[in-house]
Amino acid sequence: MECNVFEIAVSESADLSQLRPELLQHAQQCFRCSGLLEDFQTIARKARKLASVEPARDLWGDIRAQLEREGLIQTELRPAAQAARGVRDRSADAVPAPRLVHSAPRSR
Ligand SMILES: [Zn+2]
Repeated sequence: MECNVFEIAVSESADLSQLRPELLQHAQQCFRCSGLLEDFQTIARKARKLASVEPARDLWGDIRAQLEREGLIQTELRPAAQAARGVRDRSADAVPAPRLVHSAPRSR
């Protein structure tokens, strides 16, 4: 097996623990590809940990309040502007879309 065939097969593998025997055999014989396989396994292991990390609660309310206090966003609805556009965005009924006021942090 050539290294490029191994690289493609490993990079497209959904489950590195289920690699075909000929791929594992190549990794055992090829220093370069065994290193590549280890890298992919490390990435997959870290990605699984990341996937299981979730915020304990919905943090958007706190983040939005902080951004409003700092004047970075404004969340009040503007009915006149919406009426002028003639199309009402229904998602705005539930949660006002934040409007970015400053794109760069203020200097202190
Ligand atoms: Zn190789």
